[in-house]
Amino acid sequence: MIVAPKIRGFICTTAHPQGCAKHVAQQISVVKNRGPIANGPKRVLVIGSSTGYGLSSRIAAAFGCNAATVGVFFERPSEGDRTATAGWYNTAAFEKEAQAAGLYARSFNGDAFSDAVKTEVIEAIKADLSQVDCVIYSLASPRRVHPKTGEVFKSVLKPIGEVFTNKNLNTTNGAVTEVSIEAVQGDDIAQTVAVMGGEDWEMWIDALLDAGVLAKGVQTVSYSYIGPEVTWPIYKNGTIGRAKEDLEHVQRKLDAKLAGIQGKAWVSVNKALVTQASSAIPVVPLYISLLYKVMKDMDIHEDCIEQMDRLFRERLCSGNPQPDETGRLRLDDWEMKPEVQAIVAERWAQVNTENLAEFGDFAGYQSSFLRLFGFGLDGVDYEADTDPSIAIPSVVVSE
Ligand code: NAD
Repeated sequence: MIVAPKIRGFICTTAHPQGCAKHVAQQISVVKNRGPIANGPKRVLVIGSSTGYGLSSRIAAAFGCNAATVGVFFERPSEGDRTATAGWYNTAAFEKEAQAAGLYARSFNGDAFSDAVKTEVIEAIKADLSQVDCVIYSLASPRRVHPKTGEVFKSVLKPIGEVFTNKNLNTTNGAVTEVSIEAVQGDDIAQTVAVMGGEDWEMWIDALLDAGVLAKGVQTVSYSYIGPEVTWPIYKNGTIGRAKEDLEHVQRKLDAKLAGIQGKAWVSVNKALVTQASSAIPVVPLYISLLYKVMKDMDIHEDCIEQMDRLFRERLCSGNPQPDETGRLRLDDWEMKPEVQAIVAERWAQVNTENLAEFGDFAGYQSSFLRLFGFGLDGVDYEADTDPSIAIPSVVVSE
C-alpha cells in the first residue's frame, strides 16, 4: 500500500515504516558523530521509550554509552491496511539497529502504569541483565488506570483560577487565532497529578528497588518543562504544572530511598519540542514556531536527540551534572537564554497569520510534526508500495 499522512487536528493517524526507520537512523548518526560517551551506564531501562524524549534517551544510551536497553511503551501494531503507530515502527527500527551493533535490546508493549508490566520488566531484567544502572521515566499519557484501586484518571490541560485567553496556532493551516481555555473544575488538578505526577515513577522505583534490580550508584531521571511566561497559565501554573511540581516532590523522596545504594534521582527540565504530547497543548505550538526560528537563526536549535545526548554526555555521565538551585538539571538552558526569550517575547506581541512566516518557523514546525510519523525524510520513496506489517523482534504480538 501507499502510506500517506492522514492528519486529524494535532494527531496523524498513519505512520510510514521506512520513514520512521530513517528518523531513528538519523538520530543514531547524531549520537555516533559525537563519539562515545565516557563513563555511561551499561544497562538502561527507559519507560516511555518509543517516541519523543524517551526514544531519544534510549538511542543516546545505546549508541552513545553502548548500553543494553529495556524499553517500555504503549503502541499499536499494524492491522490489515491500518498502519502501526509511529512508536511501533521506531522501536522495530531501533531494535534492528541495536542488534546489528551487537547491543542487547528488549521491549515491552503494554500499560506501564500497571503492576503486570512492572513485574514482567523486572523478571526480564533479572534474567538478562541482573540489574540496571539507569532508569529514564518519560511517559506522556492522557489517562491512567490506578494499579491498586482500578480508578481511571484523566489528565487535562487547563489554567487554574481563571480563563486563559491568548494567541494560538492552527497547525493545519497556519492561522494565528485566539483561544480561550476554561479554568479547572472539580477535581481536574488531582486527576492530572494522578496521571502525570510522580506516583507511578515512585511505584516503578519502589518495585525495582524491592526486587534488588537497581545497581549501586543508579541514576533515575524524569522529564519536566517550565518555559516562558506566555505559556505559564496553561503550563507551569496550570494543571500540568501541578503534576510537574509533584514530580519534583517525588524526586526528593526517591533521593532518600536511593541513598542506601548511593543512587540519585533527577528531574531534567527539557526544551520545548514538537512531539506527539506537546502538539496537543494549546498556545505551545505557536511558541515553538517562534522559538525554532530564533534558535535556528542563532545556530543553537536542538531536537530531542541533541537534548538527550547532552543529558547523558554532559550531565549524567560527566561527573559534573550542574543542577540549578533547586536541584533540577536544566537542558532548557539554551531555550531560556535571555537573548532568545527577548526576541520571542517581542515577536509574540506582533505575530499574526500574515507575518507568521517572517517571525516564526511554521514550515519547520510542520516538517518536525510530519517527521514524528516518518513523513518528509530524505531518501524515502513515499510513492513505493509499502508493507505496513513490521515486527519488533523482541515483542510477541498475541493474535
Ligand atoms: P511522547 O508522546 O513523544 O512520548 C510518550 C511515551 O510514553 C511514548 O513512548 C508512549 O508509548 C509512552 N506511553 C504513554 N502512555 C503509556 C502507557 N500507559 N504505558 C506505557 N507507555 C506509555 O511525549 P514526550 O513529549 O517525549 O514526553 C515525555 C516526557 O517529556 C513527558 O514527561 C513530558 O512532559 C516531558 N517533556 C516534554 C517536552 C516537549 O516539549 N515535548 C518538554 C519538556 C519535557
